Amino acid sequence: MPKLFGTFGVRGVVNQELTPEFGFDVGLALATYMKGSGKVAVGYDTRTSSVMFEQAITAGLISGGCDVVAIGTSPTPVLSFAIRYFSCDAGVMITASHNPPQYNGIKLWGSDGGSFSREGEREIERIILEKSWKRAPWDKIGKIGKADALTPYIKGILNRIPKFERELKVVVDCANATGSLVTPRLLRELGCKVISMNCQIDGTFPGRNPEPTPENIKELSKAVVACGADLGIAHDGDADRTAIVNEKGEVLAGDRVFALVAFHHLRGKKNPQIVTDISVSSVLDDVARELGGSVVKTPVGEPEIAQEIRKHGCELGGEETGSVIFPDWALCREGVMTALKFIEALVQSGEKVSEFDRTLPQYFLIKQKIKCPNEIKGQVLNLLSERFARYKLNRVDGLRVDFDDGWLLLRPSGTEPIFRCFSEAKNSERAKELAELGMQELKACAKTVGSN
Ligand code: MG
Repeated sequence: MPKLFGTFGVRGVVNQELTPEFGFDVGLALATYMKGSGKVAVGYDTRTSSVMFEQAITAGLISGGCDVVAIGTSPTPVLSFAIRYFSCDAGVMITASHNPPQYNGIKLWGSDGGSFSREGEREIERIILEKSWKRAPWDKIGKIGKADALTPYIKGILNRIPKFERELKVVVDCANATGSLVTPRLLRELGCKVISMNCQIDGTFPGRNPEPTPENIKELSKAVVACGADLGIAHDGDADRTAIVNEKGEVLAGDRVFALVAFHHLRGKKNPQIVTDISVSSVLDDVARELGGSVVKTPVGEPEIAQEIRKHGCELGGEETGSVIFPDWALCREGVMTALKFIEALVQSGEKVSEFDRTLPQYFLIKQKIKCPNEIKGQVLNLLSERFARYKLNRVDGLRVDFDDGWLLLRPSGTEPIFRCFSEAKNSERAKELAELGMQELKACAKTVGSN
């Protein structure tokens, strides 16, 4: 059966790969999955195509007998909040996250505000592919109610985070996307002096590409230095991701933001558990050790992290992009809360962002990739496991090889015909050595398997 859902939801170029007809199918399939009853929160990002998909998905949902709580343009964390706040049974977020404006996507959410399980996604796929959906009779068609989720969301956050004790100057860049609706206001309410850029909603993303990479947020880096600001904050298109820029205009690595927030947030908790994926930096292990806790590593993807948290619980989750999950607040990557918790920690430290970052051990990470046909990936992985058998291995997603002074992750991409090779160590020479070893072994194994 072909897979419609990728690492996180369905994504595609609008009106080519992703049509409103398909949106309708997803809505109807979700309603069928929910046995034609229950309430579904539907939100969408600022893209030009988002309202079109909202209408299509909503039509599918009510045709299948579900009621819809329409929360309108919202960041993903607000949709997650709304699911619980309005006691919904599921949620749909229309967003292509950090992709360029011609894309859109559909993400499904469970009643706990966490992303749909893989099993749930497979079931929705099956219903769509087999067209085994069920429509409601005319008198059981669902109802649509509009709701304001932004106001209670902002109130909820302000109830959790006290006003900062020091006034910081913050430049915030929301990519003309959904973060504009909440982050600048929350920062102001919490006592920051806020300079906003790209905070007018515009679905063509005129200010910058919505992925908050160092290249894409160069203007923010410049603005932080030019304004003499304490830090910069950048969101992606749906604000489940945050990048932090220090006072010198340098972008912090995502896993360092995650680790700094983790250290601050978990201090004083007994044996705290952190759930993250296999590709995250060892800096998280260091922080967990220092706190007397531990790190649970899952396959890459928010649904995998959410599922682990549902099963075993934890104090904090997150990803190497710097998106942190605060399970006692929401079971989703909370870009807005991450930014605020980072500032809270920074203010308490009394340090500048660059000094605060230096409180963590330094690591060097190298990311590479090679081409590898999808059909031989499994065999290549098995062969790699044999060749690294004398080391400590973890096969939760690809192959992670842990050495005394670093690690290698050799992982087949779920979407492209490539193998990724990540290496990390405490000095750049060792990271390079491990990267070379990883690439060499990958090439050799691909060649052996390919010639059989
Ligand atoms: Mg996102």
